[in-house]
Amino acid sequence: MPLMIPAYRTVAAQSEDSSGVIKFTNCLLVKGNSLVDGDLWVSSVTGKILNGQEILYEHRTAPEKIVDLGGRILSPGLIDTQLNGAYGFDFSVIPEEGTAAYGKGVLRVNRSLVATGVTSYLPTLTSQPPEVYQQALPYLGPSGSARDASYGSESLGAHCEGPFLSPTKNGIHNASVLQEPVNGLASLADCYGPANLETPSPIKLITLAPELPGALSSIEALTSHDIHVSIGHSEASYEEAKAGVKAGASMITHLFNAMRPLHHRNPGIFGLLGTASHSIRKPYFGIIADGIHLHPTSIKIAWNAHPDGLILVTDAMRLAGMPDGTYDWTNGSRIIKEGALLTLEENGKIAGSSIQLVDCVTNFMNWTGASVPEALKAVTATPAKMLGMQDVKGTLTEGADADLVVLDLQEAVGGEKKLVVDEVWKFGIKVFDRA
Ligand SMILES: [Zn+2]
Repeated sequence: MPLMIPAYRTVAAQSEDSSGVIKFTNCLLVKGNSLVDGDLWVSSVTGKILNGQEILYEHRTAPEKIVDLGGRILSPGLIDTQLNGAYGFDFSVIPEEGTAAYGKGVLRVNRSLVATGVTSYLPTLTSQPPEVYQQALPYLGPSGSARDASYGSESLGAHCEGPFLSPTKNGIHNASVLQEPVNGLASLADCYGPANLETPSPIKLITLAPELPGALSSIEALTSHDIHVSIGHSEASYEEAKAGVKAGASMITHLFNAMRPLHHRNPGIFGLLGTASHSIRKPYFGIIADGIHLHPTSIKIAWNAHPDGLILVTDAMRLAGMPDGTYDWTNGSRIIKEGALLTLEENGKIAGSSIQLVDCVTNFMNWTGASVPEALKAVTATPAKMLGMQDVKGTLTEGADADLVVLDLQEAVGGEKKLVVDEVWKFGIKVFDRA
C-alpha cells in the first residue's frame, strides 16, 4: 500500500520585480550520502542553482516563487549513461525519410524522456556500420547549450557501444559489423568519421574491448581528445583489463554482462573492482538493475567492492513502454518482449531492457539495503563524476544546473520501498508534474 502523498502546493510570493528566483522549501535535499532538511534556491533565468544566503542577505532579493514540497525529496536530475532508444525510436536506426527525420526523432525522445526524471543522458548506439555513425552522430552531441527547458532531456554526448568489441562477447550486437582498431585513432576515424573525433566531439563515451589489436593506443588517443572510454563486450583477462585502465579507460560497461565471469585464479574484468594496485584507479562500472540481467546478490557484491564507482543504467531500447509481442529488430533479427524481459527470437539471448531509471534506483535500494541518497548517488553524482561534470550535473551545489527531480518515497507492506517521480525541473523550469 502506498503511503499518503504529502500535500503539494506552489505559492507565489509577494514580489514587485521579476527576478526569476525560486525557493524550494520544506524538502529533503540529497547531499552526498545524506538527506538534509533545507531550502534550495534556483534561478529560472540562468537555469542554475543559487547561493540562498547571498541572495537573501546580500542582494535582499525575495524569491519570486516559493515551492513547498511538503517534506518530499529534492534530488539532482537523473543521468542515464546507456540508453539505446525509447518510445519506439532507436538511436541506431536512420529512418527511411533520412537524417532530418532522425533529428526530429531524437527531439521527440528528449521531450518524453524528461518526464521520467532523466534530465540528461548519453544516447547510445549499438555496433553499426560506419555510415550509421557518420549520419547519426551529428544529431547526438551535447544539446544543452541553448539552456532551453522545452527541449526536454539533454544529451551530454553520444555513447558509442562498439563496434570495436570482441566477436565472442557480442551479445545482441551484430557480429558482422564488429571491427578491430588495428591502426588506433585512424581506425576510429574511419569508422566514426574524422569530424566526429575532433574537439568538441559529439561522442562522450566509447565502449571497447581492450584486448583487441590497437585498442590500448586507441584508448590513449581518445582520452587525450576528452572522450571517455569504458571496457565492455570483452574477453579481457584481469591483466588485459588493467592495461586498458592504465591506458586511460575509466569505466566498465554493464559489469558482469558480456564478459568472462569471475574465476578465482583469473578474476577477469570484475577483478578491477578488487585491485590492490596503486598504479591504477578502480574504474566506474555500469549496473543494469532490472531483475533480468543480474542477480541482486551480484549487484550487492559489486557495490560493496566499490561503492563510489557504481552507476545505474537502464540499457533500455526502443520497445520500452510498448505492449508484449514479437518485434522486428535490426539486421533481420526479431525480439520477443514479455514484460520487462526482451530476448532474441533466434537464440533466447537477453536483448536489452525496458526499465525506467527511477525503477532501477528502487530495485537497487530494495536489493542492497542502500539508503535513498546512496541509491540516488548512483544516477546523479557518480555518473556526473565519471563524465567529469561533477560541478554542473548531479549535484545541488551553487552554480550547478538547476536540473531537479521531486521524489515521493512510498512504502509497501513488507517494507519494500518505491521512489516515484512527482515533478521534474529542467534549467529551473518545471517541465513535468504528476499531480
Ligand atoms: Zn551491451
